[in-house]
Amino acid sequence: MWRLKNSRGLFLNSNNMAQDRSIWSYVAAELAGAATTQEARNAIDEYTARPEWRLLSDFAPNRSNCPIVERNAVSLHGKLPSRWSALADNIFYGVTLDGLPNAEAHNQRFAAIVSVSLQFIWMIESYVLAYDAMLYSFREHARAYERGDVPTYHQEELVNSREAWRRLERAAEGWRDEFKIDPGDQSIHLYVPGREAADIDEAVQSVVTFTLGHELAHHILGHTSKNSERRAKEARAMLLCELSETSRAFIESYPANQQKELLCDAMAFKIVAGSFSDGTTGERDYKSAYNAIIGGCFSLLALAHVGEHWIEQRSGETHPSFQVRWQSLLLIAFETWEGWQRDRSGGHPLDLTHQLRMFVDSAFTNWLGMRGWPAAEGNAEVSDAEFQDALYRLYVQTWDERIGRKYPPEGLYEWPRPPEFLANARANDPSNK
Ligand SMILES: [Zn+2]
Repeated sequence: MWRLKNSRGLFLNSNNMAQDRSIWSYVAAELAGAATTQEARNAIDEYTARPEWRLLSDFAPNRSNCPIVERNAVSLHGKLPSRWSALADNIFYGVTLDGLPNAEAHNQRFAAIVSVSLQFIWMIESYVLAYDAMLYSFREHARAYERGDVPTYHQEELVNSREAWRRLERAAEGWRDEFKIDPGDQSIHLYVPGREAADIDEAVQSVVTFTLGHELAHHILGHTSKNSERRAKEARAMLLCELSETSRAFIESYPANQQKELLCDAMAFKIVAGSFSDGTTGERDYKSAYNAIIGGCFSLLALAHVGEHWIEQRSGETHPSFQVRWQSLLLIAFETWEGWQRDRSGGHPLDLTHQLRMFVDSAFTNWLGMRGWPAAEGNAEVSDAEFQDALYRLYVQTWDERIGRKYPPEGLYEWPRPPEFLANARANDPSNK
């Protein structure tokens, strides 16, 4: 079967990388090569001589050619049900210098690889920063609301939140360019006082871990090879056992190819959340719960935004649209955490889930707005007033949820559900019998 040594060899050889060099030593070389003036060369030499950079660039590939991804892989494996440990331990998690944001899984007889592009990892940070910008706007809004000031349309914070999305739109042009690796727009964080860098970094690492988990799931579920039918069947059955009737019916209402993606999302979510019933954690792990929904949300959202596949629903597509994948994760999140109490500091994973839903809704509203919706003519943007009105209504809706309306709420910005799902949900509803 697979051997880590073979997996590592295959990845590094096929990417023309030396066995003993980390991805960061290649990045340093690329940076130096791109410097056009002596001054720029000096600045890059100085930067790459720093101890924190040396730690990255002197790393010798083991499970990954990047020490950060290696750490994420180890944490992922630590939460895996033991029956899949031996298989996972022989996978190499490689980081590529591909210019497009992507992640994939493939294997040969003696080697298995998960690869993720540096472009993907770099891009994620900008989305996390935009989320932070939105959260800050809403906090300011909530404070005004509590003071009894009806929030007005012209608050600077809301304009800033929208500005973050405008910047993401521009940055995405660079991420769609396969010939360069674009670090994104670091200036987004200038718009908000925001969180500590360490919190932002933890969110980015959760996204990377979720993404590795999704690709690992393709291996476990046997999607990458023809001769693992028995394992594939067992793994699928074991995963489906962990889901409720409703989310199982949701996933199974899609064509076989698309089901694969939904199952991998579900498995990644369950692993990162530490909620497999024969996983190693057992008890309620709030930190892992937060990481799982953050990881799933940003991983799906960023790829949908860059690839512009939010809503298409052609059944011949290999990947379901973002809307379907996100709805599926929301269902699983809800059934996993519904009965949980608040954590010691008063937080709840479903609160965070609601916040992320708002972010996703505002992202989508904004994306549509930039393409002339709902304005019928030309490519006119939705006006700031209309956009802020949408945000304001989302805020009120979330407020209602917090004071105890049932989930999911019937509301203005609820994602439309596919009809098959409604039919299944009705068939499974005991009150219909
Ligand atoms: Zn996939």
